[in-house]
Amino acid sequence: MVKIAVTGGKGGSGKTTIAVSLAKLLNKRLIDADVVGPNVHVLLKAERRKVEDVRIFIPRINVDRCSKCGACASACPENALLWRPLHYPVLLRELCTGCKTCYYLCRKIDNAIEEGEMSVGKIFEGEGYGIRFLQGENEPWMKKASAVSLRLMKFLKGDEVIDTPPGTSIITFIPLLYADLVIEVVEPTPHGIRDFWESVNMVKKLGKEIIVVINKYGIGLTGELEKELKSKGYKYVKVPYDQEILKAYSEMRPIWEVSVLREAIEKLREYL
Ligand code: SF4
Ligand code: SF4
Repeated sequence: MVKIAVTGGKGGSGKTTIAVSLAKLLNKRLIDADVVGPNVHVLLKAERRKVEDVRIFIPRINVDRCSKCGACASACPENALLWRPLHYPVLLRELCTGCKTCYYLCRKIDNAIEEGEMSVGKIFEGEGYGIRFLQGENEPWMKKASAVSLRLMKFLKGDEVIDTPPGTSIITFIPLLYADLVIEVVEPTPHGIRDFWESVNMVKKLGKEIIVVINKYGIGLTGELEKELKSKGYKYVKVPYDQEILKAYSEMRPIWEVSVLREAIEKLREYL
């Protein structure tokens, strides 16, 4: 019962390819935690069903009680409340993160803030090619992806592959926090390697075990990267550059059937 996160410093490193193949070949549920651009349902040609609306708190100003003091606007860490002297505060919904600072503050003043709600995303589930998946998706116009990510993590049962967003932002950090083990996928290009080490540094701070997958092994700076991984004692697996993977993608065929990927996942299995 291990939760394996598949991450990568940079978008397009092959993270989702590895995550989907792992889920298929290890028969684990797949969690698509790339809440700003979930796409495993497309890859798996699967219908998805909504499981839940993700909702967060937003303040509702009761104008019968509000004394227009402006304290809530001054305290709001996101500047989501617009206030001018002698006016009621106005909420900028796009900026509000639902932290409730305003709510608790006003309870000590006029108790003029009531609890409202807004939908910030959805949780979906589905199945394709025998892979069961769960997926979070935030509303495109909202900057509330972390709320969706956190909610998605509440559905974890303990035996899953989690496809994280790329990079080192909060929405990547959240699923990594919940993982037992992390697979870092890196493309041996200068940009790919730089972002990979940034991602590794973040995972190391969380104290998680890391296994590296060198995707497109053989291109660019493969030699330098491999040398560095060896010298630092990292376990790693190679996925040789193979046009067949691109072909499988473009023809919408199951990518885990490409032999270089199957072999890489078998090697990974030995480390798990
Ligand atoms: S803190 Fe309360 S009373 Fe003061 S402006 Fe905000 S809502 Fe109105
Ligand atoms: S809930 Fe937090 S972010 Fe939203 S308006 Fe209130 S203080 Fe600002």
